[in-house]
Amino acid sequence: MIREAEKGKYVKLPTFLEQGFSDLKRDVIDKRICSLCGTCAAFCDKIKISENEPRPVLVEEYDTICGICYAFCPRTFLPLSEIEKRIFGEEERKRADGDVLGIYRGCYVVRSKKEDIIKRGQDGGAVTSLLAYALEEGIIDCAVITTSDNHWKPVTKVAKSYDELKEGAGTKYTIYPGVVGVKEAMEEGYANIGFVGLPCQIQGLRKVQTAEQPYEVGKERIKLLIGLFCMENFTEELLDFVKEKVGLDLERVKKFDIKGKELLVYDEEGKVHAIALDEIKAYESEGCSVCMDYTAELADISVGSVGSEDGWSTVFARTERGEEIVEGAVEKRYIEAKEMEEKGLGLIRRLEESKRKRF
Ligand SMILES: Cc1cc2nc3c(=O)[nH]c(=O)nc-3n(C[C@H](O)[C@H](O)[C@H](O)COP(=O)(O)OP(=O)(O)OC[C@H]3O[C@@H](n4cnc5c(N)ncnc54)[C@H](O)[C@@H]3O)c2cc1C
Repeated sequence: MIREAEKGKYVKLPTFLEQGFSDLKRDVIDKRICSLCGTCAAFCDKIKISENEPRPVLVEEYDTICGICYAFCPRTFLPLSEIEKRIFGEEERKRADGDVLGIYRGCYVVRSKKEDIIKRGQDGGAVTSLLAYALEEGIIDCAVITTSDNHWKPVTKVAKSYDELKEGAGTKYTIYPGVVGVKEAMEEGYANIGFVGLPCQIQGLRKVQTAEQPYEVGKERIKLLIGLFCMENFTEELLDFVKEKVGLDLERVKKFDIKGKELLVYDEEGKVHAIALDEIKAYESEGCSVCMDYTAELADISVGSVGSEDGWSTVFARTERGEEIVEGAVEKRYIEAKEMEEKGLGLIRRLEESKRKRF
């Protein structure tokens, strides 16, 4: 996927191109701040995610100083105001200056209008419905989503139809390098790719889209980024702990949710098992410790549950494209949307601030 820069085509290479995987290892992986977003492995053929640990490793035993992994990693450096300027424009950036919720054109309380999505959706099924609308309208020709195996282990999928999109519905609370799905979508030849993921994954993909670098990585094929709110994510061991604690085979779990200070485990008989968040603190991913982004501020559209009543999703339309999709999805009856009230916004602001303080 990476084509070396033609000699002479670029007058001056930015200095970050002199940094390679050993620098990434020193500055991110060994410091245990890798969020396992998957961006490095998605855009550099020489990196894969090791299944044992899991963490990024070199495919072969040699380093490279092409700079891709270091430049695209959301944990090396994050020139936020520069990225915002390029994504949203300088005017929008100035207008939102100082708002912890980031730049947005509208914030809504949203629920799907599709019964089958409401049934499977984590909250209001907004994410799945917005993707379905974007797919139907040809804004995207596929969406990289996160489904799971029978035991709730996340699995990435390149969804190309309404039915495939529904397989992603519902939240999986363990870390997974979902951005590698973008590589899969590119290898399958898609030219208009949508992606749903966590704030760190959106940051990685925005770095890919905005970095000045001499490689052709297919960034123009990434057309829509939907970001999920995220206070923290957990290591895979959480799933074993839940199995033990609740005494339930994970195949029988219908849904996981975090509400207030509890992880709720819904079983197929409708019983809800609550585990205090304090009890699962040991499984919080170390890589989340440096993240200050609760609401996926760099996404086209951000979606969470906080701020909305049960069964509804909170949706920020951030970019012009994001706003068009939300408005179009209302018009074509994929979703219904109400303006978010100040009280809801206040609650989201408080949580955003608490994430920043905590880390
Ligand atoms: C780890 C994690 C932590 C979260 N923390 C918060 C929080 O603190 N506060 C809050 O308000 N909301 C949080 N959310 C978001 C919330 O759980 C819902 O995902 C969101 O409200 C969208 O609901 P929906 O019904 O619109 O989505 P649905 O229509 O059900 O679609 C869900 C989408 O999420 C994607 N997805 C699911 N799991 C993952 C994953 N692990 N990685 C990447 N993509 C995934 C799927 O691909 C799917 O497209 C979190 C989500 C995750 C994955």
